[in-house]
Amino acid sequence: MNPARPTRRHLLKTAMAGAAGALLVAPARRLAAAAQAGAPASIQKLSDDLFVVTIPGEANVLAHTGADGVLLIDGASAGASDALMKAVAALPGAGPVHTLFNTHWHPEQTGSNELLGKAGKTIIAHENTRLWLTTDIVWPWNDKRFKRLPKIAQPNKTFYTTGQINTDIRYGYIPDAAHTDGDLYVYFARENVLAVGDAVSGAGWPVVDYTTGGWIGGMVGALQRLQTLANAETRILPGRGPVLGLADLKAQYAMYATIYERLTTLLNKGRGPREAVAAKPTKEFDDKMGSSDEFVRRAFESLWGYLSPDA
Ligand SMILES: [Zn+2]
Repeated sequence: MNPARPTRRHLLKTAMAGAAGALLVAPARRLAAAAQAGAPASIQKLSDDLFVVTIPGEANVLAHTGADGVLLIDGASAGASDALMKAVAALPGAGPVHTLFNTHWHPEQTGSNELLGKAGKTIIAHENTRLWLTTDIVWPWNDKRFKRLPKIAQPNKTFYTTGQINTDIRYGYIPDAAHTDGDLYVYFARENVLAVGDAVSGAGWPVVDYTTGGWIGGMVGALQRLQTLANAETRILPGRGPVLGLADLKAQYAMYATIYERLTTLLNKGRGPREAVAAKPTKEFDDKMGSSDEFVRRAFESLWGYLSPDA
């Protein structure tokens, strides 16, 4: 099975040659993150055996401690891997890491793969995520290049639909392609905690990585799907930002569905990304969410691979 690549990649590249975009991270936040380099990890205890471990400036990591060692969901970036392992080793009840989940292929999630792969640990991912990690990737909007991972660092246990560690820890594919086409969730039944990676953003406008399949229609679909896995008490951990609840998923679903509808209307009228940005399709959300120009441009471009008549 090949990851779904937009069939109009060449057109996309041409269309975007002049659209060198900045990352969504605001400069002030980037500086703040740099200033905090070396600062201690923050630990949020969700239960006696479940902890959110966040190295400053890095994506969230969820650590589950047990008699057989530690299970990690995501592994931070390579530069933060040592700090992450130190923080995890210091958790109450911690032992050696036995399993790492990659919620998707991005370097902010897969930076401990090499360390843990070399140590013979289990690295679980959706098959599409493994495939992306076997190939070099370029983001056309900012020309950012990603090298494939060495074989030892690639996921060594993949799945297509669902799987489980035991009856308490179950995982599954999020097939909507919200962030990439390899997104997964992990659900801890006893603790009622749902980890969703970057399929849901808890920190402002998300990256729409259409290079590896993500699109705004998928974000809407995933937000709807994930609601069926949660109840009012479920704590939902996104890739970035604080723990969310079911009400947050519902609010995000309503917001992105509105934006999706506006963007598809513009697409159907033959408009382009610049016109989509000028139409301010996120206007009532910007106060809370921040400047959306980059997000809107990328979200609009993500429609091309899915909705264009000749796609
Ligand atoms: Zn990501």
